[in-house]
Amino acid sequence: RQRRLREIVSRPTRTLDGASISLQANLELPEDVDIARANGAVGVGLYRTEFLYMSRNDLPDEDEHLATYTAMLEDLDGIPITIRTLDLGVDKRADGLTACSSSVCNPALGLRAIRLCLKEPALFRPQLRAILRASALGPVRLMLPLVTNVDEIDTVLSLIEEFKRQLHQQGLAYDDDMPVGAMIEVPAAALSARAIAKRMDFLSIGTNDLVQYTLAVDRLDDSVNYLFDPIHPAILRLIRMTIEAADSAGIPVSMCGEMAGDTHFTRLLLGMGMRELSMQPGAILDVKELILEADTQDLQRRVAALFTQLDDTSPSRLLDALNHA
Ligand code: PEP
Ligand code: MG
Repeated sequence: RQRRLREIVSRPTRTLDGASISLQANLELPEDVDIARANGAVGVGLYRTEFLYMSRNDLPDEDEHLATYTAMLEDLDGIPITIRTLDLGVDKRADGLTACSSSVCNPALGLRAIRLCLKEPALFRPQLRAILRASALGPVRLMLPLVTNVDEIDTVLSLIEEFKRQLHQQGLAYDDDMPVGAMIEVPAAALSARAIAKRMDFLSIGTNDLVQYTLAVDRLDDSVNYLFDPIHPAILRLIRMTIEAADSAGIPVSMCGEMAGDTHFTRLLLGMGMRELSMQPGAILDVKELILEADTQDLQRRVAALFTQLDDTSPSRLLDALNHA
């Protein structure tokens, strides 16, 4: 089986009916680039930058951010990378920052991710400027975590414009067309996906948080993990809304939560119209194996039928039927 997987690494990821699927890697550490490449990732769909802030008492400055991104771009050798801005919160802490302390009652609903960055310009500015500067050196996309409304997006876009002007005045290079996208990982964002898609160059669905916030299930609490269900009808509908919003805005949509790398859901996601999936590098070949044997036209028809039955039949039975036919 390992041999079979190795055989498919270099094959293009195309379904039986010729749909091309982009399989990308989620990375947490710069050195993981090698594993992503070894598994044939055609992009980094999610680079989690929290690592830069952990196990230290100070904050990384612009040069340190830039050095990290530059080294990754060199290792990636032309493979595009999506850099997510800082997503510190209760599940990802840093000693040098006092925000998001666990003494807050509901830290998952608190000052984390994009909220924290917008509140603390000293935190956000060096990272945004460094990502812009990195975009002059290779294919870079910038991605915003935990967006809940369009004001946050508009604020970030005007900050980016301001930093572009500064960089220009300082004679520092950046790519004026660097794509900026939003993660859809809060129910409000999925429900507002059309408005978000109008302002963004791409969307990426973060199912780990989308499930947590939609189902009110703490993703870190083992006592409720039996409720953590990516195929709850509510989740499926939010995913579908997000895909439709991106399609009608004419922008790409990907998925970078764990659901994307779970082979139980590969046929379902193809049938829902997903064409870009980002996952831990070790999952890429297993997902690819299923894609090579899939027919998207057929799956799309069957998933449309599955949606009409969501209120009457358990989603797991519908999924079983989809996976075993
Ligand atoms: C997610 O929430 O699905 C996601 C990809 O982000 P993270 O797991 O880093 O919160
Ligand atoms: Mg998340």
